[in-house]
Amino acid sequence: MRLSDDRTRMELLQWVCPRCGTNNVVGANFCRQCGQLLAVRCLHCGQEEYIGSRFCTNCGRPLQGAPPLVEKPARVVLPAGKPRTSSWAIASLILALLGLGPVAVICGHIALSEIGRGTAGGQWLAVLGLVLGYLQSAFLLFGALMYLLRLVGLA
Ligand SMILES: [Zn+2]
Ligand SMILES: [Zn+2]
Repeated sequence: MRLSDDRTRMELLQWVCPRCGTNNVVGANFCRQCGQLLAVRCLHCGQEEYIGSRFCTNCGRPLQGAPPLVEKPARVVLPAGKPRTSSWAIASLILALLGLGPVAVICGHIALSEIGRGTAGGQWLAVLGLVLGYLQSAFLLFGALMYLLRLVGLA
């Protein structure tokens, strides 16, 4: 990006962000508004210079090709489109259909926390697995209770 001499002179005084135009303090590594890199280091003397400068103010040599002072912060890569269906949700539903209620409940909860973090989709699968799993667990518990009561002769 080429800047006019007038703008460059002004920017040297206040380090205006070339991306969003925010005034930053001289010496700032990044724009306080958008995170744009603002500083480069002179290859010859190590002086920190504004990214729009063409020459080093310390040694007078061209700043072209000077490496960024600080590496750009890593960009968070967002998955494009819909997130994949949580495999925990699928497992929960399958286990529930197989009659393994308590295990389905555990898988369903793992799936929901995964979906809650936004790393996976398929909420309805997880909810279905959870509901079926809880119903089966309730029946199992009820059956076990009845069995115990019968065992001690109360029913
Ligand atoms: Zn900015
Ligand atoms: Zn220099």
